Parts: sequence; structure tokens; C-alpha cells
Amino acid sequence: MKATTKIQAERVAAAGAAKMSGQGYTFRLYAGHDGAGHVINPQGDRYRVNTQAGVCNCPFYRENWQFGTCKHLVWLKAEFDWQARADAEAADCAEWEEYGKHDLVASKS
Ligand SMILES: [Zn+2]
Repeated sequence: MKATTKIQAERVAAAGAAKMSGQGYTFRLYAGHDGAGHVINPQGDRYRVNTQAGVCNCPFYRENWQFGTCKHLVWLKAEFDWQARADAEAADCAEWEEYGKHDLVASKS
């Protein structure tokens, strides 16, 4: 579909992205990816997505290129953010485990 405003394009992209995980979309990153890879839909179609450059080769993106968004871009960016958060939390947990090895020497009652 052709969006008429950037806001509309972003809404369509965000609404589409919100459904993608449940629909069985997957992605494969290119080696040394820098935010680029394939997003693969449940039918097996692949779209080339680069979140750094903000481009995708799907029909929606091509039709609405001036707005620079599509559900694949939104979804893949969200996956990266989620992964970054998970990594940060894992690092955090490792730190807490380290603290846990020491006996508490003081407490407030
Ligand atoms: Zn796309």
C-alpha cells in the first residue's frame, strides 16, 4: 500500500512488525553484519534489510521509500534492541553472581 504521510507509513510498519514474531518470521544476519541481513517470511520470501542504512527491498518499502520505513526494518531493529538488552542483563547477572560469592559483612536492620 502507498502511504501518504511519514506518520502513516510508520504506523503501518509498526503495526505489521508487532505481528511478525507470532507469524513465524525469522532473520539471518550477514557475517560482520553491522545491522544488515535477510528477513524471511513464513512463505520463505527473503527481504534484504539494513537497519544502519534504514533500507529494505520489500514492496512496501519500495513503494514508500521516501518515508524510509517498513515492518521488516522496525522488526529487525526491535530484535537488535532486545538482543542488546539481553546481553546487558546477562553481563549484569554475572556481576551479581560475583557479589553473591562474598559473605555479607554488614546489613541494615
Ligand atoms: Zn521491508
